[in-house]
Amino acid sequence: MNLNELIDYDRQHIWHPYTSTTHPLPVYPVERAAGCSIYLKDGRELVDGMSSWWAAVHGYNHPALNAAAEAQLKKMSHVMFGGLTHQPAVELARKLVELTPAALQKVFFCDSGSVAVEVAMKMAMQFWASQAPAKTKFATIRSGYHGDTWNAMSVCDPVTGMHHVFKGSLPVHYFADQPKTAFDAPWDAADLESLAAIVRRHRDELAAVILEPVVQGAGGMWFYSPDYLKGVRALCDQYDVLLIADEIATGFGRTGKLFACEHAAVAPDIMCLGKAITGGYMSFAATLATDRVADGISNGHPGVFMHGPTFMGNPLACAVANASIDLLLKSDWPSAVASIERQLMEGLKPCQGLPGVKEVRCLGAIGVVELTEPVEMAAIQKQFVDRGVWVRPFGTRVYLMPPFIISQPELAKLCRAVCEVVASL
Ligand SMILES: *Cc1c(COP(=O)(O)O)cnc(C)c1O
Repeated sequence: MNLNELIDYDRQHIWHPYTSTTHPLPVYPVERAAGCSIYLKDGRELVDGMSSWWAAVHGYNHPALNAAAEAQLKKMSHVMFGGLTHQPAVELARKLVELTPAALQKVFFCDSGSVAVEVAMKMAMQFWASQAPAKTKFATIRSGYHGDTWNAMSVCDPVTGMHHVFKGSLPVHYFADQPKTAFDAPWDAADLESLAAIVRRHRDELAAVILEPVVQGAGGMWFYSPDYLKGVRALCDQYDVLLIADEIATGFGRTGKLFACEHAAVAPDIMCLGKAITGGYMSFAATLATDRVADGISNGHPGVFMHGPTFMGNPLACAVANASIDLLLKSDWPSAVASIERQLMEGLKPCQGLPGVKEVRCLGAIGVVELTEPVEMAAIQKQFVDRGVWVRPFGTRVYLMPPFIISQPELAKLCRAVCEVVASL
């Protein structure tokens, strides 16, 4: 298949994320990727600023991750998890239990982040079904993103999410105001009042509060105060509501801590992990729970947790996840992320004050230029590709979250491209 045939067939038959089949956006065929470079089929090389949506923290085609996949492939790529177990899964569970807050002792392996959120919500429901009174509602904060499956959608931001599209068939939950206090701003306790009012009023029907700790990702790329998260934990304790931390985007070092909950020294009752868990190699996720939640579910009716996907605990994914976590922990990732943060602040600073720029903010290996008007995707995408970088904005957010292994010159190229493109808007 030559380049044009490939593009043609794709346009005619394949859905890409959030796209139309009648007016598809352009797509760029990729031949291969290595380190921080994506090589297009037409010969161009792009510096990757996206880590393929938070996932490829070690860059692409990493020898250690390749070796782990190849070694596991020679043993088995998959066996069912019903009635069977294997070393890659047990090793991974042990790593996750050891790395996450001490209270989280039970691990459920899932196929994707959205499924991890479904599983977390089902856990909360089944836990409360075992208690009196049974509680079935969820509260969350605006501008959140938790995935594209049914229940995950129901707790995404009600305006920018998909509520209007699926109105009438999504479960209705409670939405508190987005926390306004920025990550490093002085804490204003009034910020918590909106959620506190919901929790107080609906304590008898709220199974859990679900949120992304400290960094809201796809719903707005916003960094809020860790004191807010502390306040949410205290509220949940006071009114006996579970706290679900969706760390799918933030987990594994992206925000400067291994998990974003650590910024607030908070332990959730249920935690979702995904995205970077396999270093961006394949779809995989995990939901962790406390013994209290797991025991409640197990002591209730029907006495088991009701979820069990076909590819649960996939050995290939577990083996790569183990290698990815080992690689991360062996590296000096805190310095790498801190120096990326410094370079992002410096490199994106020229955007501050440009017409059409509302704010520039950075946290960990995430740099965001928030605009006043949404970008025109196809045009801006081409401008980035023409400058030799891969940057994919959404709405009013142009952002960078490069692999942790990015070099200074590569990151400088990304920042320069963002500044030039934003200046030309
Ligand atoms: C990406 C994301 C999800 C969904 O994960 P998928 O693997 O895309 O299903 C859920 N929550 C957060 C915070 C995410 O960033």
